[in-house]
Amino acid sequence: MTKLFLYNTLSRRKEEFKPIKAGAVGLYTCGPTVYNYAHLGNLRSYLFEDFLVRILQYNGYAVRRVMNITDVGHLTGDRDMGEDKVEAGAARTGKSAWKITEFFATAFKQDLVALNILAPDIWCKATDHLPEQIAMIKILEDKGYTYKTADGIYFDTAKVPDYNKLSHLPLEELKEGARVEKNPEKKNPTDFALWKFSPSADGGRKRQMEWDSPWGVGFPGWHIECSAMSLKYLQNQLDIHCGGIDHINIHHTNEIAQSEAATGKKFFNYWMHNAFLNIAGGKKMAKSEDNFLTLEKTFIEKGIDPLAYRFAALQVHYRKPMEYSEEGMRQAESGLKNLRLHVKALGDEQGKVNHDFKEEFLGAINNDLNMPEALAIVSSVLKSKLSEADKSATILEFDKVLGLDLNKAGEGAEQILELTDLPALIQEMILKRQIARQERNWELSDQLRKDIEDSGYIMEDAKSGYILRKRKE
Ligand code: AMP
Ligand code: ZN
Repeated sequence: MTKLFLYNTLSRRKEEFKPIKAGAVGLYTCGPTVYNYAHLGNLRSYLFEDFLVRILQYNGYAVRRVMNITDVGHLTGDRDMGEDKVEAGAARTGKSAWKITEFFATAFKQDLVALNILAPDIWCKATDHLPEQIAMIKILEDKGYTYKTADGIYFDTAKVPDYNKLSHLPLEELKEGARVEKNPEKKNPTDFALWKFSPSADGGRKRQMEWDSPWGVGFPGWHIECSAMSLKYLQNQLDIHCGGIDHINIHHTNEIAQSEAATGKKFFNYWMHNAFLNIAGGKKMAKSEDNFLTLEKTFIEKGIDPLAYRFAALQVHYRKPMEYSEEGMRQAESGLKNLRLHVKALGDEQGKVNHDFKEEFLGAINNDLNMPEALAIVSSVLKSKLSEADKSATILEFDKVLGLDLNKAGEGAEQILELTDLPALIQEMILKRQIARQERNWELSDQLRKDIEDSGYIMEDAKSGYILRKRKE
């Protein structure tokens, strides 16, 4: 059996994956901050994590996946400055902070379903885990890692000698990055809030979400939730922790510092991070920018199958930047449709999974999730000399990992028609269209496609020509 190799941000190397408990994996994936819809960039993170979950399962591991919902404490500046994103959203819309987070958490879960992302085994909300977070801050205080300022209790990063071990950046550089958001009371620019005090009654806006604590009324900092909840739910199974690359230098660095300070033990063994989804010329898609696209608006409302986005994400290795374009998504949509039609054309006969192709597929996915190569192997199976039944069985086996619903041909698909099955008039139109395409006469080709479709057929262009189906009545 091919061994599983994963790229570990801690070592900056591909390492053979070895779980703490034989046959099982504990996986923590940083979840959404629910003050707005998830955008396609966020969803790229969750798709990458879903590929990872399915690959672990395919390798025979029992996966215990925990995902948090950040419904408090994530401030507009990742370094604990600015407003709480949820409270700001509540003030802007005049709605209850609790209602807002519930609404966007539900919308997020719907996105996961639409993308065939397997649900985590444990969902945990930051606001449901105040006692755990307070207990952890108390331990850090007792061990001498904390200090108090006018606006909260902070973690003293100078007390952790290997604070930069995940980022691999010189401490000076990390500090430089942190200086952008100034808080004169912080001992070190990289120090971060464990507990923030609520604004006093006469200054600032009154918060909707606040709790009593040994340090006064307030709310937890953003990083402490992920430490407290992963330690609670994955006690002796701190195998893999994931998120986007923006979490490396701040959020995950701080999670490691405070967790290892509190427990005296190594926090997760493997740290995996996905690169960004960028838009128009390499700009990161972000909730704070107006380049923010949701699955609902870009796919579902336009009648485009959301799994086309999954298909597009599979085509780019998770550690490489992915570029969003409408054209790219349309291509992904037709690529996925064609693939499904080809699988459907293989028929329903029971076949066997081909051993050699399966080994090849495993070699790709176990090489740090090389999904583009895994997709290429699907094409090789289609082009191979295997029987149709074996091709179908092999590809549907791979779909357990790909999650593309390859056994479902698109809407209205009944059968792929051969040219000779068609009425003479349609045959003539198809031939004329093929000539128009060869001559790059796109206008005529589009007109002929429309005529063909008006006659009750669905026509899709494929690499090898076209696929034609009769429209369902
Ligand atoms: P948030 O809801 O902002 O806490 O982010 C949720 C996840 O999305 C985190 O793992 C981020 O690192 C990730 N993320 C944010 N923006 C992007 C992007 N443009 N491309 C890929 N991942 C992203
Ligand atoms: Zn987190």
